[in-house]
Amino acid sequence: MLICSSLDEVRRREAALRCIASRVKEHGRTGLYDLSGLAGGFPVKKSDLAFLETYAGPAIFSESLQKEGKDHLGGEKVLAFNRTSAAILATIMALVEPGDEVLHYLPKLPSHPSIPRSVKIQGATYHEFDDLNDFKLSEKTSLVVITGSTMDHQVLPLADFERIIEIAHQQQIPVMVDDASGARLRTVIYQQPRALDMSADLVVTSTDKLMDGPRAGLMAGNTQLIDLIQAKANQFGLEAQPPVVAGIVRALEHFNPQRILDSINRKDALYQTVKEVVPGVEKTPTGIMISAENILKEITDSKDETHISEREAATLMAMILLKDHNLITIPAVGMPGVSATIRLDLAAQDAERMDNTQISHAISDALQRLKQIATDEEACLNILYE
Ligand SMILES: *Cc1c(COP(=O)(O)O)cnc(C)c1O
Repeated sequence: MLICSSLDEVRRREAALRCIASRVKEHGRTGLYDLSGLAGGFPVKKSDLAFLETYAGPAIFSESLQKEGKDHLGGEKVLAFNRTSAAILATIMALVEPGDEVLHYLPKLPSHPSIPRSVKIQGATYHEFDDLNDFKLSEKTSLVVITGSTMDHQVLPLADFERIIEIAHQQQIPVMVDDASGARLRTVIYQQPRALDMSADLVVTSTDKLMDGPRAGLMAGNTQLIDLIQAKANQFGLEAQPPVVAGIVRALEHFNPQRILDSINRKDALYQTVKEVVPGVEKTPTGIMISAENILKEITDSKDETHISEREAATLMAMILLKDHNLITIPAVGMPGVSATIRLDLAAQDAERMDNTQISHAISDALQRLKQIATDEEACLNILYE
């Protein structure tokens, strides 16, 4: 066993970060290619720096936050949080009582853990569904959550979206949409309406997903609900602080859907090229992905030869992509328990500096190297932890 615990995953992440730091010291930021799709960014202006203060900051940035936030998400009022998870927690604390029930509908199970965890901490019951036939409100339901696009970028069909909102609203139950990536993925690629334009009551999005903002949560909705949620957020310290708000405002100003649209055409060509090296490669809305299962399949000829797990194979692959090709993917840098799927997002800013041939060479070289070292425990440990 190469990866035995979360502690090992922490060590792997530290090794990846050391590698990134030393690369940047030598070659600067352009020596790296972050195709995780979660690179985020912090596009503040020099003139913003003087206002990154506790009280002057909100005075300066909140007006722009309201304007830019409502342009992006619709609704009457906007609220910024430290993370999308924080917005979800604040909403559940504000709108759900102990003993109530929260229903969650999403395109494909499982849900982002922040939703069931927040419901549990509030002492309510939780049910999640990905089949319309199973979705039923009860007398105890006090909140319906819809995930517009999952962590793996599965998007909810429009008809299901509208139907869930209709069912909830027949009983006057508020609907919160977790549109972490969906606020852009659904609208730009699938041309679906914004969640609030479909009469959802609240929506939250992550300002680092498919846009170059800080990792933070931006919520919008009707004023009355937002005010209730804001009170909870302030009580528990969940709201974004002025520097993050400044980053959100500038990222919203810079947001240009064209990069997402360009990635759609480019990914088909990349998919065809990579398919020759890895037949199991799959398309995502804005790029490609290779599952851990497929990576292991590529490096083992028959079942009885398998001595490493799928997760180990994928993590090794991600670390080789980082160490040999300066290419950042989630299984190398993610927190313990992170998805082991290698996803390359062509809507990432750094994708502009790397062409498809370079990307497919990196994948093919890394796979070759992985095949060579997979049976050499010493070499594997070195790649994962040194
Ligand atoms: C990323 C994501 C979240 C959480 O975002 P954080 O910034 O990590 O809190 C919640 N739900 C979905 C569907 C996501 O993709």
